[in-house]
Parts: sequence; structure tokens; C-alpha cells
Amino acid sequence: MLELKNYINGTWEAPCSEEYLESLEPATGNPLARVPSSDADDVSLAVAAAQKAFPNWSSLTRQERMMFLWKIAEKIEQQQEALALLESQDTGKPLSLARRMDIPRAVSNLRFFATAIAHEENPCYPTDGKALNYVLYQPLGVVGCISPWNLPLYLFTWKIAPALAAGCTVVAKPSELSPITAYKMAELCHEVGLPQGVLNIVHGLGSKAGNAIVVHPTVKAISFTGGTQTGKVIATAAAPMFKKLSLELGGKNPMIIFADCRLENAVETAITAAFTNQGQICLCASRIFVEKSIYEVFKEQFLSKARALVVGDPLDEKTQLGAVISAAHQQKILSYIALAEKEGGKILCGGSAFHPVGRCANGFFVLPTVIEGLSTTCRTNQEEIFGPVVTIQPFEKEEDVIAWANNTPYGLAASIWTENLTRAHKVATALQSGIVWVNTWLLRDLRTPFGGVKQSGIGREGGWEALRFFTETKNICLGF
Ligand code: NDP
Repeated sequence: MLELKNYINGTWEAPCSEEYLESLEPATGNPLARVPSSDADDVSLAVAAAQKAFPNWSSLTRQERMMFLWKIAEKIEQQQEALALLESQDTGKPLSLARRMDIPRAVSNLRFFATAIAHEENPCYPTDGKALNYVLYQPLGVVGCISPWNLPLYLFTWKIAPALAAGCTVVAKPSELSPITAYKMAELCHEVGLPQGVLNIVHGLGSKAGNAIVVHPTVKAISFTGGTQTGKVIATAAAPMFKKLSLELGGKNPMIIFADCRLENAVETAITAAFTNQGQICLCASRIFVEKSIYEVFKEQFLSKARALVVGDPLDEKTQLGAVISAAHQQKILSYIALAEKEGGKILCGGSAFHPVGRCANGFFVLPTVIEGLSTTCRTNQEEIFGPVVTIQPFEKEEDVIAWANNTPYGLAASIWTENLTRAHKVATALQSGIVWVNTWLLRDLRTPFGGVKQSGIGREGGWEALRFFTETKNICLGF
């Protein structure tokens, strides 16, 4: 079994308490790693190291910072296969998905922010012949990055890359449920000679290690991705300390399919949107609304594809859905399926746990599940399930479907399927959502702002927004 250590001040450290957690391989239920159960003492050491490293790191040239990030990206790329395997074992996701999505995206994140700083512009305002105003973006100092278990290295690097590129030093905590690739990334940072203390990785529970980062007075900002409830706890702790907060939280994302869409594409993408990563992506479509005139045809095609999805050993190349993250999460998902039935829903496919034969017999699997017949306001259609569970519902009027789509506390992502351009613009504008995809899903351009409205979050990641978050904006006015 792998024994992880914290990465503090460029060295590997056991937790001060000597306490460890055990992380399991979701596909088998077997122990996979011993993970430091860090606390405020470990976080204090990490923050002190980051504070010491800040003056040098922030005064490196852009080119120098860029080259460090670029080299880390190269190392990840060289180890893509090994990292994909670890990501799959740690999360239960299909190896093919980790290979195709998670690890390449980690590489892209680092390269994107490495090169972005080479092209950054500072606004300058000549003021009526009297003065020159210009704007500086100055790195905040030590920042905290807290990421979830579903896309471990992908989201870890999505935060760390802009923070480091902006000139901040970082104390980061990956989820204790899937910490291994972050641990490995520390090794790669070490190999490229990243200066000591620039990136510190502290493992452990959110309530202990995570909270210690949030409340540490030296940590100037918290970039957090995770559940809405955790976001509330973090906001409550950080607000009185006037910390900058970026909160990327949960979603209950609608997909709206109009009768004039290219149905084959819509069905295919709806399957991907509902079930990729076992439905454990904050952007997954969990409520599919289909115009009544094509509802039955859609349903038949969608169900036939959902039933054909291969669930099983994540390491098997044929597998399309692996295990969900933990036994507790599996139980949560199954309890929502039971709730859906209680609320009057009809389970059209799936609806239960799955026990593959062989090495994964004790893994945490849930069959892809499609439910119809629910009201738009029931709990199943209001609360985030974060599993391979999707509801389908017919609609007749555009204004009704917009109202239903908007009628949840969340507002992260939505997707619309229509060939009518005017309608696409109109509906996209009316949806209360940080991102709206038209005739596509999860097509990301890293330059675009990313984030949610309502209880899906505060702030935006991506592009300049991410770099700005890690800086303080200063206006300098030079009088003539
Ligand atoms: P959690 O909110 O449980 O945890 C996220 C991270 O925060 C983990 O590292 C966790 O540690 C840590 N944490 C927990 N409590 C605290 C605390 N009090 N202070 C500081 N840190 C804490 O989310 P999950 O890991 O379960 O991830 C799933 C959720 O993430 C879903 O709701 C999903 O929608 C959301 N998500 C949002 C995305 C977005 O961009 N909007 C993208 C991906 C996921 P620990 O693991 O120890 O609890």
C-alpha cells in the first residue's frame, strides 16, 4: 500500500500528529493508500514555507515562472500513462477516461496559464494631459487551493496553475478520497526544481486540514471547488477575515432538447452528459427536458444507449462506467433512487447497485439510471445527486421549460439542442446559468470564464478571470 506524505517546503513530511487515513480503491473496496491526516500544525508549517518562498517567487520574471510551469506540464505528459492508471485506481473512473480527459487536461491547464502570463496586458489611461493612470496586478501572497475528488489532478492543476503563474505561493489540499496524483505531482515539481515552499501540498480531511487553510490569517485567498454545503461553511469562516473567495460549487444542470434538433447528436451527447465519470462531474446533465412531439422517440433511443453502456472494471478498455467514489456515496445515490420512486418516479433503466464478477465484486458500482414521471419541484429534481442518475421530462412550451430549468437553487451549466438560432440565443439568455452550451456539452475553451450563479458558486475561473483572482488590482496615477 502506498504511504503518502505531505509536501512542505520542498520535502516530504509525515503529519505532525502521525495520524493517517486509509483510502480505498473504489472499484474493489481494497485499501490503496495511507493518507496523512494533517491538522492545523501541518498547515502552519506549509503556510510558513509558502510565506518564505513568496518574495523570490513573485519577483521572478514571467519567463522564469512560465518555464517552471511548462516543465511540470512536460513531466506530467511524459508520465501520462502511469498517472492515468493511478487516477483510475484512486477514483474508480475508467482508465480510458483518465487517459483521454483527466491527465491531458492537467497538462493543458499548466500550459495555458504558463503562456497566458507572457501575453498579459496592463491597462493604461492617459488622463486629459494631466496624468497617466495605469493598472498593476500584484500577486496576493500565500493562497489556499482546495479541490474535490471527482476530477483530481484536473481540478488541482486548474487552481494551482493560475495561482503560481500569477506569482502567488500555494498551500493546496486535494480530497483525501483521491489524493494520489496530487502526491505524484509533488514529485514532478521536485524533479523540475520548483523552488522550496512555492507549492505545498497538505493531505487530510476537509474539516481539519481544509478548515485550517481557510482560517489561517496569512492565507489571503481561497480557491475552492466542491459541494455547496462545504462552500457555505468556507464562506462563513472566510468572510469575517475579508479573504478573497472563489467558490465553484454544485449543479443540477438542465439539458433542453427541442423537436427541431439533430436528434442523433442530441441523444448521443445526452448519454455522455448524463453518465461520463459515473455522473460525477459538476457539469453533468441531471435533468433532461424533451419537447413532447419527440419525447417518445428520444426516450427509446436514449434508453437503448443507456442500457448498452458497459459498467465494470475501470481498467478494462471496454468499460464506459466505472465505480463511484465510495461506499457512502454509492449509498447516497441509491437513497436518491429510492426517494425518486417514493416521489412517484418510474425507473426506466438501472436503479440499483451493480456487482461485477471477478476482482471488482466488492466495488462501489451503480447502474446508469433513467427516471421519468417526476414533478419538476420534487427533491430528486432539485437536489444534486452527483451520480449516474438522470430524469427525463416532456415539455410543450418554451416558457415552461425555461421556468422549470431555472427552478432550482443551482445555476452552473445548461445545454440547449435546437437548429433555430433565434431560439438558441433567446433561451440561452433566459437561463440562469453560468455556462450555456448550444448543440454541444462540456466543450471547454480555457480562455472562457467558468463558474456558476445562485448556489453554484461565486466568482469565475478560467482565462484572465483566474489570474485576476490571485492578484490585487492597483491603480497608479502619475501626475505630470
Ligand atoms: P466537498 O465539498 O465535500 O469537498 C471538496 C473539498 O473541500 C475536499 O478537499 C474536502 O475535503 C474539502 N473540505 C470539506 N470540508 C471543508 C471545510 N470545512 N473547509 C475546507 N475544506 C473542506 O466536495 P466533494 O469532494 O464531495 O466533491 C463533490 C462536489 O464538488 C459536488 O457537489 C460537485 O458538484 C462539486 N464540484 C463542483 C465543480 C465546479 O466547478 N463547480 C467541479 C467539480 C465538483 P474532504 O475530501 O476531506 O472532505
